[in-house]
Order: sequence, then C-alpha cells, then structure tokens
Amino acid sequence: MTATATRVLVLNSGSSSVKYQLIDMNDGTRLAVGLVERIGEQTSRLAHTPLAAGGDKRETEGAIADHDAALKAVAAELAADGLGLDSPQLAAIGHRVVHGGLKFTEPTVIDDAVLTEIERLVPVAPLHNPANITGIRTAQAMRPDLPQVAVFDTAFHATMPEYAARYAIDVETADAHRIRRYGFHGTSHAYVSRKTAALLGKDPSEVNVIVLHLGNGASASAVAGGRCVDTSMGLTPLEGLVMGTRSGDVDPAVTFHLKRVAGMSTDEIDVLLNKKSGLIGLCGDNDMREIRRRIDEGDERARLAFDIYIHRLKKYIGAYSAVLGRVDAVAFTAGVGENAAPVREAAVAGLEEMGMAVDASLNAVRSDEPRLISPEYARVAVAVVPTDEELEIAQQTYALVNA
Ligand code: ADP
Repeated sequence: MTATATRVLVLNSGSSSVKYQLIDMNDGTRLAVGLVERIGEQTSRLAHTPLAAGGDKRETEGAIADHDAALKAVAAELAADGLGLDSPQLAAIGHRVVHGGLKFTEPTVIDDAVLTEIERLVPVAPLHNPANITGIRTAQAMRPDLPQVAVFDTAFHATMPEYAARYAIDVETADAHRIRRYGFHGTSHAYVSRKTAALLGKDPSEVNVIVLHLGNGASASAVAGGRCVDTSMGLTPLEGLVMGTRSGDVDPAVTFHLKRVAGMSTDEIDVLLNKKSGLIGLCGDNDMREIRRRIDEGDERARLAFDIYIHRLKKYIGAYSAVLGRVDAVAFTAGVGENAAPVREAAVAGLEEMGMAVDASLNAVRSDEPRLISPEYARVAVAVVPTDEELEIAQQTYALVNA
C-alpha cells in the first residue's frame, strides 16, 4: 500500500446480488456506488452511479452468469470512470461476511487459513457465507496483491455474556454442533450505537442504548457502554423480531408440529419460516409503506400484521430495558426504522412510565441526519440514526490495513 492509497472498495456479496461502494477514507466521500442483481438469471441488472464524476446512474441489463462475471462487470464500470481496481489509490477491499462464528470477533485480513475457517462456518450460515466466499475469491483473483479484509456481521455481538449467548439446551449437544446465539447486523448495531452516543454528546462508554435495526431483516440489541450485551437474532437471523418475511420468535415445537402433523419437510419449514412468514405471511405485503397504505384504507389483515410487528418490538424494548437496567437512548435505524414514523410512534406508545416518549412533530420530520424525536422532558432519548454499514466496513478495513 502506498501513502496515496486512501480508497476502500466495500463488497457485499449476497446469494444473487453484489452491492458495492468505493469510498475515499480521507473524508468518507462515496466515489461510486452500485448493485448487481439477479446474478445467474437472464435478466441480471447492473446499476452503477459514478458519484465522483457527478455522473448519472448507468443501468445495464442482460445475463450475468455468476459472481465472477458480476465483479468483472463492476470493475469495468469503475475503470470507465478512471476508478479501476488497478488504481494505486485503492488501499484495500473490505468484504461483508455474515457469519464469523466464535473465531472471528474482529475485522480480519483474509489469507488462506482465514478463508478455510470462513468455509468451515458454512453449515451455520448456509444462505450467506458461500456467497461471501465467492466474492472474496473473485476479488482476490483480480487483485492478489491487495489486502482483502473480512468484516463480520456477528463480531459486534461477541461481547455478549455467556448467559445471554447460550440456549438452555443440553450443553454437549449445543457445543458439538456450535449451537448458540451469535447475532447479526452487528456492523449496523456497532455504527448506530456509537452515532447515538455522539448525538447525545457522550462517549460510547458512558451510554446504554437499545438499537432497533428495522429493515427487511430486523434485529434489536442492548448495548451497555459500547459493548453488546444481548441481541435478538440467534444461531441464524431467524430469531427475534417480526421481519419482512421471517417469523422471528416462535415456539420451537411449531417446527415439530409442521413436520409431524402437517407433513412438511425440513426444507419446506425452512422456507415457510424464513421466506413466507413475518409481515408477508401475515398480510401478503412486506413493505411497510404498502402496509400503512392498506391500514389507511381500513384493511384488517394489514392492521393485524402491523399490531403483531409492534407488539414484538415493544416486548424487546421492555426486555432490553430490564437487561440494561438504565436506558439512555432507544435508536431506530434501517429502512423501516429511519422512514416509518408510525412504527416509531406505536413502538414507544404507552412507555411513558419507562421514561420513553415520542414528540409527534419531531417524529414527522424527514431527514438523513441522526436526530432526536423524544420530547425534552423524556428521561430516555428516542432517536432516529441512519445506519451506514458500508462506511463502517470501510472504516474497519482501512484502520486494519493502516495499523
Ligand atoms: P434490507 O437492507 O434489510 O433489505 P432496508 O433497511 O433497506 O432493508 O429496509 C427495507 C424496508 O424498509 C422496506 O421493505 C420497507 O418496508 C421499509 N421502507 C423503506 N422506505 C420506507 C418508507 N418511506 N416508509 C416506510 N417504510 C419504508
């Protein structure tokens, strides 16, 4: 790496998509952002926005066979703007890796041994880690000389005490199969809890925060003095809150019942709980905008889905208040948390005795900036804090390669 290398390319490789951002670490400026979708289909799409060049979004459609082809297409787009992967200004590539197991609790420079270890975690993250691994291998092949860093979704939750991380099941069985609560969305929980402390003018070590990451996937975390002490997702991202398509918490016996009584296979149950449950299973829509529109039209199913979503959220706010003992702030983030004022209002409604309230006019303000939405008298700060997982990955990557 040369002294002029101040750029980090962040890659988030999903099963059929690659999201990327090229960020200048001098000031966090986005030089280019983009997305390849529907990889492996005839209708793949690449959308690339060269922000540095002030250019408009360029979209290309047509079959992109695999991640290798996708990354090559991305590299070509970047090169067309003079931002190619061969640039000496590129300091590193930061990869989002979903599951780091117990081994990876910090961002890690990827070598063969690290890659083997990430592969060993595939059984606990079958939907995510394989795509992350493909992305890493492809990027390594393109720039073998460049540091590639893995930033793990689970890492921030590694500080959970053993009594929060363990399920109350037979210890030998659990350990033999690495069954425990790992938590996900950690990059977002880390970033948002820190930003929330900054919004309060405090050091992260001084504040206790409940972070509610409400996107299509959703999770809550209890962060005490900058360290995660509990989180709602578990062995996989299925546990916890009601999500766009995932059930969140259910009695585990629901799965035996579906198998024994409904005659469903394990794979069918997996699909049911991960893809056909949550908001979409309850009312047929997983977009909160559409659900609110239907509620305004008097749709009862949409109303019930919303109420179930809010009830679960409220239970976690209550639980994490008890876990933390003292709560300084509740922070809403991600697509729903940042945009859906009715969700924020309903989640906090009736919690005045716990020091939590939302001011209707502050809650109605739309902004990309972190902001308070609680009235001045409230003991607990309620905040909207936009997440930025890509910037967090870039910062962790850059800090590591400069260490
Ligand atoms: P993910 O990264 O998990 O795919 P996001 O954090 O981007 O998800 O959140 C996506 C969700 O945010 C959408 O499914 C939708 O429910 C919600 N959302 C986005 N914009 C709005 C809005 N203006 N009002 C209400 N909900 C919104």
